[in-house]
Amino acid sequence: MTGDAVAPTFPFTPEAVEAARVMFARPVEFVMGAADVAQLPAPDLPEVAFAGRSNVGKSSLINALVGRSGLARASSAPGRTQQVNIFLLDERLRLVDLPGYGFAKAPKAEARKFQNLGRAYLSGRPNLKRVYLLIDARHGLKPQDVEAMDALDKAAVSYQLVLTKADKLRPAEAEAAAAQALAGVAKRGAAFPRVLLTSSEKGTGLAELRAEIAAACGLE
Ligand code: GDP
Repeated sequence: MTGDAVAPTFPFTPEAVEAARVMFARPVEFVMGAADVAQLPAPDLPEVAFAGRSNVGKSSLINALVGRSGLARASSAPGRTQQVNIFLLDERLRLVDLPGYGFAKAPKAEARKFQNLGRAYLSGRPNLKRVYLLIDARHGLKPQDVEAMDALDKAAVSYQLVLTKADKLRPAEAEAAAAQALAGVAKRGAAFPRVLLTSSEKGTGLAELRAEIAAACGLE
């Protein structure tokens, strides 16, 4: 359609991609970091959330999507992202940065606290349109990702896999990783049957992800 080799089944028109680009170029602001679901804003706008193992490239991806390098902060140490961080884009939708999971160095009790917060968020947000589950393209689905998918399937929350750091693989390897990830969600009820291949560093797949988010939020 747009000659994009990364996502040959990409279903959006060039107009939809452009509209999403414009929306993501609009003002974005940090709303709050919530340590408890009781602090979350009223569920009055569509939301999409980003989840994944620590260091998967979540902060980089959120920053790249909105073109603001310092917005979401990288979790270089356990404890940096213990909160659900909420951003408001174009006064129309919220981007939600969930705590990264699987930090081996985090104390057990702390790790459990992140998990509980993430789970409470995921099962209690009626305005949550989709969760983007980020997977490092080089590593594929890990046991903690499978656990996260189990929780999402159980809560019947729509989710989509996004492979990150695609630039670290050769194109054919990246395609194979995407195919493998897609096969990994084939039988999962709440998984969206399309996997996106992205690189925050090179900008790969960002236009597609913006269009996916706009469509998931009914903002095409
Ligand atoms: P987070 O812990 O999931 O928020 O991950 P970060 O966004 O902090 O990224 C973790 C590390 O991966 C950092 O060193 C980033 O520079 C690196 N990284 C993130 N995205 C990419 C990418 O698209 N390509 C490459 N090559 N490195 C990336």
